[in-house]
Amino acid sequence: KLYNEVQELKGNIRVYCRIRPFLAGENIKQITIEHIGDNGELLLVNPSKQGKGQKVFNFNKVFGPSATQEEVFLDTRPLIRSVIDGYNVCIFAYGQTGSGKTYTMTGPIGACEKDWGVNYRALSDLFHISQSRRDAFMYEVVVQMVEIYNEQVRLAVPDASMHPVNSTSDVLELMQIGQTNRAVSATALNHRSSRSHSILTVHVRGMDLKNAATLHGSLHLVDLAGSERVDRSEVLGDRLKEAQHINKSLSALGDVIFALSQKSTHVPYRNSKLTQVLQSSLGGHAKTLMFVHINTDVGSYSETLSTLKFAERVS
Ligand code: ADP
Ligand code: MG
Repeated sequence: KLYNEVQELKGNIRVYCRIRPFLAGENIKQITIEHIGDNGELLLVNPSKQGKGQKVFNFNKVFGPSATQEEVFLDTRPLIRSVIDGYNVCIFAYGQTGSGKTYTMTGPIGACEKDWGVNYRALSDLFHISQSRRDAFMYEVVVQMVEIYNEQVRLAVPDASMHPVNSTSDVLELMQIGQTNRAVSATALNHRSSRSHSILTVHVRGMDLKNAATLHGSLHLVDLAGSERVDRSEVLGDRLKEAQHINKSLSALGDVIFALSQKSTHVPYRNSKLTQVLQSSLGGHAKTLMFVHINTDVGSYSETLSTLKFAERVS
């Protein structure tokens, strides 16, 4: 309740930055982040200017490299709760390929419960809350998985569009089916998953058993395609086409969120499949959370800068 009031005051768009830790074997000396403040401040250092080219970015929150999945979810949870109260919520993972988007949303492959990402934790919370209120309310949860590749929308689980689910394990099973149904090789799948947007949609319908009043909330969990720019002189054909589609849809998303943050009367939803699919859940009383993911190695500096600029524009 209190959270909703705070949100109304601050606007409905929040941006969290998550910094990927260095993985085993990576050179931990090459770092471009100087400082992470408790107040959501981040200081980026331009490696070629030796301490002079510093830039400060501000977020609602910054999660440093050691933040756990649980800590990240604690600051996401209030949004999940508001889905049960009838809000539409969109959560996005943005960043270059390899920056940790899938880790945040899904978790590492074959994750144990403590490494679960936002998707599973969110669903598990929704089931938990609906169980705890079952004397007064009846809830129905259905999920849908969609992939957008080259501006085409595909259902990831094709046999039916909406799947009723009763537990987190139902969802895990469904996501497994979604993965195996993609008739491509593992390498192709890897490539494809970084070049497509994947959207897990959850609809929650609640009925008050006393007066039969109903509420409908929805949650979109979006693992976006990698935001890295490609060198036009180096890619051709299909790769170039993919890159152009991604570029177009990510900038369309940026434009929509920017228009919403400015309380603009015209919101350009029609410019990409992604924003069309999410139109009813972006804007109005809907709540949006954008996780922007960055790497801190020197080699990623220019991508990190462009990710942070995207974030700055939408926050
Ligand atoms: P993306 O989806 O943006 O391409 P991934 O989520 O696949 O990136 O992350 C790239 C690699 O880094 C994976 O091996 C993943 O397990 C690891 N990784 C990402 N974020 C974290 C984190 N916060 N803690 C530990 N490992 C991480
Ligand atoms: Mg990924």
